[in-house]
Order: sequence, then C-alpha cells, then structure tokens
Amino acid sequence: MTFRARHILGIEHLDPEEIRSVLDLSEKYVELNRRTVKHSDALAGMTQINMFFEASTRTQASFELAGKRLGADVMTMSVAHSSVKKGETLIDTALTLNAMHPDLLVVRHPASGAVDLLAQKVNCAVMNAGDGRHEHPTQALLDALTIRRAKGRIQRLTVAICGDIAHSRVARSNLILLGKMENRIRLIGPPTLMPAGAADLGCEVHEDMREGLKGADVVMMLRLQKERMDGGFIPSEREYYHRYGLDAEKLAFAKEDAIVMHPGPMNRGVEIDGELADDINRSVIQDQVEMGVAVRMACMDLLARNLRAERGAKAVGVMV
Ligand code: ASP
Repeated sequence: MTFRARHILGIEHLDPEEIRSVLDLSEKYVELNRRTVKHSDALAGMTQINMFFEASTRTQASFELAGKRLGADVMTMSVAHSSVKKGETLIDTALTLNAMHPDLLVVRHPASGAVDLLAQKVNCAVMNAGDGRHEHPTQALLDALTIRRAKGRIQRLTVAICGDIAHSRVARSNLILLGKMENRIRLIGPPTLMPAGAADLGCEVHEDMREGLKGADVVMMLRLQKERMDGGFIPSEREYYHRYGLDAEKLAFAKEDAIVMHPGPMNRGVEIDGELADDINRSVIQDQVEMGVAVRMACMDLLARNLRAERGAKAVGVMV
C-alpha cells in the first residue's frame, strides 16, 4: 500500500499507485459499511472538523459518517450562509481551528485554491471537499471506484463526460484521474460550457452528443452549475435538455452495457431523464453515493497513518 500524501487537495498531486491504494483500501470499507456493526478504530482519539463554506448534502453527510465510522471525534461547522469571505477571514478561521488541535480538516469553499491556501497555514491533514471549479478529489476517487466495480477495471475505457464542463470541479478531477489511469476521454457539451483549451487537454471534444456517446463505456452527466454562471450560457433548459439531456434514445449510441453516472444533485428533466436516472440496470448513481463513504474512510485512514508516522505516534488503524 503506497500513499505518501500529507493532504488530499487534488487528484493532480496523486500518482496512479496512490490512487490504486485508495481504491483497494476502499473495497475493505465497502464491506465494513455493509455490516450491521460498521465501526473501525482507524481514527480513534483523533479530531475531525468539517468546514463547509458552500452548500452540500452528499459530501458533507458522507464525510461526517466516514469520520464517525472510523472512530474520530467529528465536528461539522456549517458556514455556507454566513458572511465568511475568502482571504484573511478564511485564514483567521483556519488558525482559530488549528489552535484547537484538529487532526483532520475537511474543507469546501467556493473559491478555487482556497483549500490549498488553508492547508499551508495549519499543521494537520487537510482534505479538499470541493474548491470552486478547481477540484473535488474524493468525488473523482469515488467515481473511479464505482467504475472499477462496474467494469472490472479503471483503464482503457471510453468515458464520456457531458454537460457543464467549464464550471465543474467534478469534471476537472475526473479528467485528471481518468487521464492518469490511461482512459480515453470525450468531453461533450455546447461550446459555451466547454473550458478554454479543452482540445489541448488530451481528450476529444464533441458538440454533438450522439456522436460523442458512440462506443462509450461510461456516461458521466454533470449538473448545470448555475451558481457559477454570470450570464446566459444556454438558450433555455428545455432546449438544453433536447440537445444534451441524457435519455434512453441518446444513451442507445453508447455501448450496450454503458453505465450512467451523475455526481448529484440532479436536475431531472434538465441534464438527465428521471426514469433513466432510476433505472438500476443502467444507472450507478446510488452506487456512487455508497462508494463515497467508503472512499472517504479510506482517504482518512491513509492520511491518519501518515500523520501518525510523522508524529511518531503509535498506529491503531486497520492494517492492510
Ligand atoms: N456535488 C458536486 C460538487 O459539489 C457536483 C455538483 O454540485 O453539481 O461539485
């Protein structure tokens, strides 16, 4: 098991071996989470603080459960609607919390780069739970675990990522991870929602969804990130659904056994047909949620091992 990282700030800092270590350990936590008694003591005695400066349902619940199942003392600060701003205030908050000796800080922030900045100011492990349109590393890891379990591998697959690529940290982290694991990536969406220089990222870019879906093993849908849009990026939601909403007719262009993913929250009837999203023969959306808890447990366990090694403390975690 190789995992050198001190923080998990982005997939860009992890190498394929470290990614594999997270996925392998996650499998053990998937098993644990399916038992009636779900406790481990990998984080026993440690303190985890979750700071969410932006709204969250799945990610926040998932990190909180993960920490509790690993035996940490978990505190969640919901600051989404406070007047906290980036810059000095964020750092002040970080320094205040740092003085309380947390071992792990989980941070979501609307500004890209804010979590990296914070990590430089504290002396505990920091996990990025999504920073602006930059990265959402645990989402990409849980997506990779979901794909690996459904397809039996996480290499040499054709993965179509569709929709609002430009504003999506999920797309960005997935692009980096899937690229590192040598997959073929297609980006599908209107030019207004495609990041500048998309064609130089080593992936195919398609404006026509049917064309882009041809032969795909995995179809990853994205939410329209209206909170990050400062103008008219699409003519109307109705028109968008017509061209880029995933339904059975468009999915028929992908491989017969292609899986459908969505990080949530979903806008049914905007980026995906509601019935398709619920079709357990094609959609792995609920699996993604399940894998999310296991992946976060694995990440925290690995970070805790490194933290203990650094501090010379005695290991109490699950050894693999
Ligand atoms: N939940 C994901 C995120 O925080 C995706 C989304 O919000 O659309 O980035």
